[in-house]
Amino acid sequence: MAYEAVIGLECHIQLATRTKMFCDCPAEFGAAPNTNVCPVCLGLPGALPRANRAAVDAALRLGQALGCAIATESVFARKNYFYPDMPKNFQISQYDRPLCEGGTLPIEGAAGERAVPLTRIHIEEDTGKSFHPERRGDRRVSRVDFNRAGVPLLELVTEPAFHDPAECAAFLAALRRLVRYLEISDAEMEKGHLRCDANVSIRPAGTIPLGTKTEIKNLNSIKGVEKGLRAEIDRQSRVIDDGGRIEQATLLYDADRDRLAVMRSKEHAHDYRYFPEPDLPVLTVGRAWIDEARARLPELPWVRARRFVETFELPAYDAGVLTDQRELADYYEAVAAEVDPKKASNWVMGEVLRHVKTAGWTVPEWEGRVPPAHLAKIVAAVEARTITGTAGKTVLETVATSGADPATLFAEHAATSSDDELLPLVRRVLAAHPEPVRQFRAGKTATLGFLIGQVMKESGGKAVPQKVRALIESALEESAADG
Ligand SMILES: [Zn+2]
Repeated sequence: MAYEAVIGLECHIQLATRTKMFCDCPAEFGAAPNTNVCPVCLGLPGALPRANRAAVDAALRLGQALGCAIATESVFARKNYFYPDMPKNFQISQYDRPLCEGGTLPIEGAAGERAVPLTRIHIEEDTGKSFHPERRGDRRVSRVDFNRAGVPLLELVTEPAFHDPAECAAFLAALRRLVRYLEISDAEMEKGHLRCDANVSIRPAGTIPLGTKTEIKNLNSIKGVEKGLRAEIDRQSRVIDDGGRIEQATLLYDADRDRLAVMRSKEHAHDYRYFPEPDLPVLTVGRAWIDEARARLPELPWVRARRFVETFELPAYDAGVLTDQRELADYYEAVAAEVDPKKASNWVMGEVLRHVKTAGWTVPEWEGRVPPAHLAKIVAAVEARTITGTAGKTVLETVATSGADPATLFAEHAATSSDDELLPLVRRVLAAHPEPVRQFRAGKTATLGFLIGQVMKESGGKAVPQKVRALIESALEESAADG
């Protein structure tokens, strides 16, 4: 039978604040285990939490970027459960009165742009981290690090609005891009800054009632979300096709082995016994703070992509790539201010991203080596045919490694269409490659490109390709007439 999947996502965003959510401990990653702890985040008796203003401000900006309704009064609640990585035996979260409700996140889906409806965004604290089991001599031990306990998180919950795992991956990519634009999280999934759980059920295509849902935990990469959901949708389809019933359960997805494992079934479902956190006042955010946080929003990535399409007449694909990182979009705009925007886009999407990827640089690191004005000079020189496109790439590489001003390199790489310089090269290449020459004469014109490439190489990229082509063609015609 054909089934339709119904999927909702719960995303946890670790905020890049200096300190933890309810105490002054550093929220940094990578410190020696159990050094960033205090009585508050260890849950010692009598310690009093205080809400981190920077974290609330980050939530206000994310909520407004997504068009959520912001509650001027929201409430922290205790979520009670026992787990060894949680020193207090409860987590401070928000329950029935969250800070943000509603809103949408625009994504690029299979059928074009669509706004994914959101349920809510609330503030909570992270748990510690367990390491287990590990071998120590003849024993197996578990260890726990509380450095992460109390680090601020935003939990963003979507409506069950997805039917396609690929759209869930697109959503996560769009969310990661947005929180990086807002500079509220590094959103590195491999470091756990952005984590995702998914609820999924299936129903016969074309029907309304929802099937029994399962929850997949720990989808910690964009590919993993898509693959884990596909695996679970396949599993549910097989169970129903075989006449079985879906049991409500929590599953863990192992991306390395593409396997799902049941973590707990419904019999062990949690009752968190939420109640308002007695040690914290109602979280009050005044109209002035809300408005002021809104005023600090940057141009949002999807707004910027649309502007790139309209202002620079770029294809939607280019606009998507160029606005994927705020720094890259800034860099592109600085280049496009000085040269043809489409040419600038080709250079940034092609050469710049290739160098950045190969060398493992960040965009700001690249910009430190090749400021936008330097790339613009190279693009302009190629457009003016002062240097060839090939030489332009060589100059760019030299600038990236040496930091030189490209203007000082143009003379050395000047384009040439001089017969005196190029004819000897053409003759040498034709003599050295009799087989491609024969094939060209036999009508295989594709070999001309190879011969032009060889002459270009001999000239150190300086030969104007159109001129080389003309010289090769006339040389071959002459020799044909001689023969
Ligand atoms: Zn602390």
